[in-house]
Amino acid sequence: MLNDLPEQAPDKILMLMQMYREDPREQKIDLGVGVYRDAEGKTPVMRAVKAAEERIWKTQETKAYTGLAGDPAYAAALSRMILGEAHDEGRIAAVATPGGTGAIRQAFEMIGRASPEATIWLSAPTWPNHPSILKHLGRPMAEYRYFDAKTGLVDFDGMMADLAGIKEGDVVLLHGCCHNPTGANLSLEQWQQVADHLKAKGALAMIDIAYQGFGDGLDADAAGTRLIVKTLPEVLVAASCSKNFGIYRERTGLLMAIGEGPDAKKKAQGTLNYLNRQNFSFPPDHGARIVTTILDDEALKADWMAELEDVRNGMLALRQQLADELRQRSNSDRFDFIARHRGMFSRLGATPEQVDHMRDENGIYMVGDSRINIAGLNANTVPILAQALVDAGV
Ligand code: PMP
Repeated sequence: MLNDLPEQAPDKILMLMQMYREDPREQKIDLGVGVYRDAEGKTPVMRAVKAAEERIWKTQETKAYTGLAGDPAYAAALSRMILGEAHDEGRIAAVATPGGTGAIRQAFEMIGRASPEATIWLSAPTWPNHPSILKHLGRPMAEYRYFDAKTGLVDFDGMMADLAGIKEGDVVLLHGCCHNPTGANLSLEQWQQVADHLKAKGALAMIDIAYQGFGDGLDADAAGTRLIVKTLPEVLVAASCSKNFGIYRERTGLLMAIGEGPDAKKKAQGTLNYLNRQNFSFPPDHGARIVTTILDDEALKADWMAELEDVRNGMLALRQQLADELRQRSNSDRFDFIARHRGMFSRLGATPEQVDHMRDENGIYMVGDSRINIAGLNANTVPILAQALVDAGV
């Protein structure tokens, strides 16, 4: 049987990591994988996470199973953080999931159970796991234009023109903030236009929010999500705590199914619990407990928010420095979009040949579509990247 398995194509980003590790040059820069790194290139455990883990270690008396939906206190704390204090709990069914990926997977499965005909619309481009999981599940999907390679910003006219084709019951997947891989995001006015359009069409929104707090701040980054939830009767929200709590390997996610009232909530909760049961039974708890411990404690929360602000401001400073360096070196403003992007990523607009050239010539590793991880830079390496981009003719 095992010999009959199809060969799997290797993951491009993991291959890039491997190449980077094997590169013997001393001066090399890894802008590939999507993990936050500080100026020393480390991915630290956040202070509040350490403190919460210590507290859990001291007080936890059992590691017996939680409920199928995970600890309700986790869903309550995280939904407050995402949807705001004023959200309507009567609309929300929620389950803890293994990471944001687990939430996305469960959301796609839920859509398939309720409306197998519904097309799921993805931004072009999007995080490659979206189409890959949809393909694995055999769900119908379509793309809408999103990124304007000429300006480096959102192609909003193209997006709305493509979304004119959605049907009633279709699901439009939106990145809550800090779009991966482009870094280009909708303005609040554009969010409202999208929300009004989906409402008029009778379509659903699904929001993937994996970088809350990495863009303009915790509340600002959730503003689009909150607006969608306010406008539309039904929304799915898949959230990840991997980045903003720095707990990647703890696999900490949440899927919220937000409907119109108690009946929808009851049915959705039943299905979410069922899907957890079929796929992995009880969700992991350690990361969820860390998050709950932090969010439910004023001092820990304040410390976590302060550290997250430092992370966010550090990335913004690197963006500004890179845009300034490029303005000077290219004698043009064509890279100014980098300072307008938000989150960990920017798509720079280099061709695959230019990307290869910068890797071979300068030891700079970025994904083939010229997505860079801003957090892979520091104040000393920004000028090196800027010069390489100009030299490569980007
Ligand atoms: N959505 C997007 C857009 C992402 O970039 C990621 C992480 N790469 C995730 C979801 C899920 O992350 P995780 O499963 O590690 O929580």
